[in-house]
Amino acid sequence: MKKKKSQRKLTPAFFIFVVLGWGGYWFSPYLLDSTKPVLKVEGLVDQGTYNGKINVDIIATDPTHRSTGLRLVTAKLDQEVPIKLKKRKRFSKFYTNRPPKPFIIDTKNLDEGFHSIIVIATDKSRNRNQNQIQYTFFVDNQQLKIHTLPDPIRVTQGHTSAVFIKTSELVTKVKANMFGKDYECYPVKLNTIQGHLNRLLIGVNVQENTGIHPIKILVTDQMDRSVEKTFFAKVSKTKFTHGGYIKLSPEKQKVMMDKSKTREDNAKRWKAYEQAQKTESQLWQGLFIRPTSGALTSAFGKYREYNTGVKRHHLGTDIANQVGTAIYAGNSGIITLVDNLHVYGQTVIINHGQGVSTSYNHLSKIKVKVGNQVKKGEEIGLMGATGQVTGPHLHWGMVVNGTAVDAEQWTDQNFSYDEETIGK
Ligand SMILES: [Zn+2]
Repeated sequence: MKKKKSQRKLTPAFFIFVVLGWGGYWFSPYLLDSTKPVLKVEGLVDQGTYNGKINVDIIATDPTHRSTGLRLVTAKLDQEVPIKLKKRKRFSKFYTNRPPKPFIIDTKNLDEGFHSIIVIATDKSRNRNQNQIQYTFFVDNQQLKIHTLPDPIRVTQGHTSAVFIKTSELVTKVKANMFGKDYECYPVKLNTIQGHLNRLLIGVNVQENTGIHPIKILVTDQMDRSVEKTFFAKVSKTKFTHGGYIKLSPEKQKVMMDKSKTREDNAKRWKAYEQAQKTESQLWQGLFIRPTSGALTSAFGKYREYNTGVKRHHLGTDIANQVGTAIYAGNSGIITLVDNLHVYGQTVIINHGQGVSTSYNHLSKIKVKVGNQVKKGEEIGLMGATGQVTGPHLHWGMVVNGTAVDAEQWTDQNFSYDEETIGK
């Protein structure tokens, strides 16, 4: 009997104890829990680029306590469109609610460009602790296509070629690499919708190897992504005239052989030519004009031999007339060099932008200053016989993206986007 009584007394107490304990076990974490659920999104990388279908897997757990485990996971696309999430059938983690099943975002249903996904996981605690992840991603189902006009590309030694790079979408930057050099390409402004075009001006060295050369085109789109494609250009031989054995006076021979002076001058000249490669706008208009009157005494590229033993191509066009004959700017631009050079005499270099420069050498008088803007046909100086010459003449030079080319070609070709240039 005694035993029974004590058991009767004990049993309710035990039950109260169990209930309170159980309640405490469940409710204190419920009340006190302040930890966020753990949230991870797999299959999608923040700032990533996607096409087709994206398999997204939301990994959400709340490992703190059974009573405060995961309650709800929601996801929204582009801030407002809820994504229907189904619960995973089985989930081994004992302390959490079932997180959502992996799901698919079909990017074909989305516009091209930036999108966002926001995932929110809430736990069951009184605080409703939340964790959220927001990713932005880029949809690009249209592969950026690049092609060239003309196609195939043919260039010739000592000449300039314009290659138009057509892209399937608007791009922010187009670069090219050819003959081991980098070239900037500049957008072509068109009146009609003819696509997105950038122009590459290629200057071909007089001694460039003939045959097939790769042109790497690197395009950067508006989302700052780059696409590279390699094209090929065929370099053809130019039959430059051979001729002239030039006898320099012993004094001039000495001048020609003074390599340190030549190096110094060349450094000044190339520094000026580089200015054009940094000038994005096209400063010239239409065709170039021949900058002076007179007889054409030595064409561009002519292979000459000097009594110093030097054999080389003539990298300019010589026009001979009397000292004092007016010299005009071949086209509009900015003066980047005015100097008295060792070999080239009194020299003016004009930057026409987009990698194009012209030079005017052996002048007797210079009428412009560095930084001056000149118009096509504006008088810049007078013909002379300064520097290493055998008589008064203008040595008219042209440099396109770091390579000396025939300036005369520019007097009947304008390299704009027209049927002549694209070779239709
Ligand atoms: Zn010359």
